[in-house]
Amino acid sequence: TDGEAGTAGADDGGMSENPYAGLVSRLRAAWLSRRTRPLEYRVAQLEALGRFLEEKKQDILEATALDMRKATQLDSAFIRKDPYGVVLIIGPWNYPIYLLLVPLIGAIAAGNCVIIKPSELTKNSEKLIEEVLPKYLDKDCFAVVTAGVEETTRLLENKFDYIFFTGSPSVGRIIMTAAAKHLTPVTLELGGKNPCYVSDTCDVQNVARRVVWGRFFNAGQTCIAPEYVLCSVEMQEKLIPALREAITEFYGSEPRNSPDFGRIVGDKQFRRVQALLSSGRVAIGGQTDEKERYIAPTVLVDVKPSDPAMQEEIFGPILIIITVANIDEAIDFINSRERPLVVYAFSSNSKEVNQVLERTSSGGFCGNDTLMHVTLTSLPFGGIGSSGLGMYHGQFTFDTFTHHRGCLQRSTGLEPINTLRYPPLQHPQDGS
Ligand code: NAD
Repeated sequence: TDGEAGTAGADDGGMSENPYAGLVSRLRAAWLSRRTRPLEYRVAQLEALGRFLEEKKQDILEATALDMRKATQLDSAFIRKDPYGVVLIIGPWNYPIYLLLVPLIGAIAAGNCVIIKPSELTKNSEKLIEEVLPKYLDKDCFAVVTAGVEETTRLLENKFDYIFFTGSPSVGRIIMTAAAKHLTPVTLELGGKNPCYVSDTCDVQNVARRVVWGRFFNAGQTCIAPEYVLCSVEMQEKLIPALREAITEFYGSEPRNSPDFGRIVGDKQFRRVQALLSSGRVAIGGQTDEKERYIAPTVLVDVKPSDPAMQEEIFGPILIIITVANIDEAIDFINSRERPLVVYAFSSNSKEVNQVLERTSSGGFCGNDTLMHVTLTSLPFGGIGSSGLGMYHGQFTFDTFTHHRGCLQRSTGLEPINTLRYPPLQHPQDGS
């Protein structure tokens, strides 16, 4: 029966009384079974739809004639790429210039007017953007607003034609709610916890270098950084010394003295990340210095999925290792959580990498490396589910800020062609 089919409906928010809950969970169970994925399946369903239109043509004509007394005939068409209008771009602090300017380029290229709002946490970048950028652009069309939470809330009361937001999922919800009041379309570039599957087949030194680079770049304050490794107990044993070696190779034996190792952006963020060090057990690093907002490159093991470090986005220099029995368990683990911005998979067997790709869902995917997928402008970049909505980079940025306007244009003459669609129409029951 309807009520029994749900698999992913554990969190139904008390909606079990809802008359459609059973139906929705039945479809979700079918979705999770991956039935709709194979090409043959899609072709078969579309063919069935085609048969419906063909076999029931008469019924459809009769029904629409009874309902609407209407018929239509399309002509040739074209798509016009129109700018949206007045766009708002809100940026985070972790790449304070890049994450404002990349969307800005697309918004200008598409022909919009733009207000940009940098993060208030990175004061120097904010000041630079506020004081210098406007000197280079047409002030009537491009403006910078410096604002904290209170002022941004007021800013969002205004009607914009598009909002492009980069930041946390919780603020993303606030932005989308504000946008909904004006039916404003949004792109939400959000965060999450990115998993990294490491198979037993891997060259452990190579994996360690690539993971350490991705995790500790910008002191871990990167939305696409791998947050946790999923691997076997045996791989964990080999990975820990290899990670330690890679950390020393990149940042020396005292990373706090390395010019290539960053600091946490602010005191509040420092305390939040520091508190996460109490999850599980420190296998590497763990040293902190509040004055400098320094947290050493750290690896945690024996972390439970319910521990704080596995419940929130770390956004700091901490890598977690979670052990799993096999690839199936790793995939189940990934699928039991919110859809991440990126899934990473390392294996010398490409079938395994493809298996992780095929059986998970995420904004992006990168096999046998970290972060590199973001560097290709030919690839769309964005999240799915709680990691975001929409995509950009390269051509996709232009398209994001463009309304694809479907247009039909006809000659004012050639009127006889139109007589077919003008009433009085020929009706099916006429038998003609
Ligand atoms: P944040 O959500 O706290 O802030 C982002 C922006 O929103 C800032 O400009 C801030 O002033 C504004 N803001 C904050 N609270 C607000 C409110 N209540 N109302 C209106 N505006 C508000 O994010 P952050 O701490 O600056 O950045 C870290 C987060 O961003 C992480 O979750 C990270 O994963 C994510 N991120 C995502 C991407 C991506 O491309 N998907 C890139 C970088 C960072």
